[in-house]
Amino acid sequence: MNIIILGPPGAGKGTQSKTLEDHHGLKQLSTGDMLRAEVSAGTELGLAAKAIMDRGDLVSDDIIIGMIANRVEQDDCSNGVIFDGFPRNVAQAEALGAMLSEKGKDLDVVIELVVDEDALVQRLETRIAETLAAGGEVRADDNEETLRNRLSVYREQTAPISDYYEGKGLLQKIDGMMPISEVSAAIDSVISSAKAA
Ligand code: AMP
Repeated sequence: MNIIILGPPGAGKGTQSKTLEDHHGLKQLSTGDMLRAEVSAGTELGLAAKAIMDRGDLVSDDIIIGMIANRVEQDDCSNGVIFDGFPRNVAQAEALGAMLSEKGKDLDVVIELVVDEDALVQRLETRIAETLAAGGEVRADDNEETLRNRLSVYREQTAPISDYYEGKGLLQKIDGMMPISEVSAAIDSVISSAKAA
């Protein structure tokens, strides 16, 4: 089973993906995490991506699509994948469709977490305060200015893929403002229906 979890930055995609991994034996593929690993390792790709990520803009489609194509081939993805943070635009969505069909695989469902933007800014402030209180390090793109740019990039480039998948009959919208456990329960029920279909 292959799933996309869609929603603006801070909507809870990462948190819900981890629960999905535990409940359904799927593998979370987060392009943001992959890019951050490249940045930490100081690779050429990481160096090129860092400034773009710090601004909250999108890294080039070629880099992202190449990264995903390599990753889905690996053994831990054989039971199915949760795509988190990918695709980010219609070109990436089309590339994913072509990639999966080449491998004889399908996309089963696209789950969109619908959230209120003002609440996201609030959540970010809480997350920064909690991270600092715990002595942790705050991500370079975790600040209000970058978040506002990431939200506008989401509205302009990523939100159109919601209609794209709606047109394919794959989109399921879930209220991402509910408590985390209720969002998880709603996702579980969508996945159960998709499995039964
Ligand atoms: P995320 O952790 O998913 O919010 O991603 C952090 C940053 O990595 C984004 O703001 C982008 O700069 C970059 N990024 C992650 N995924 C993608 C993608 N699918 N396409 C382009 N850029 C991406």
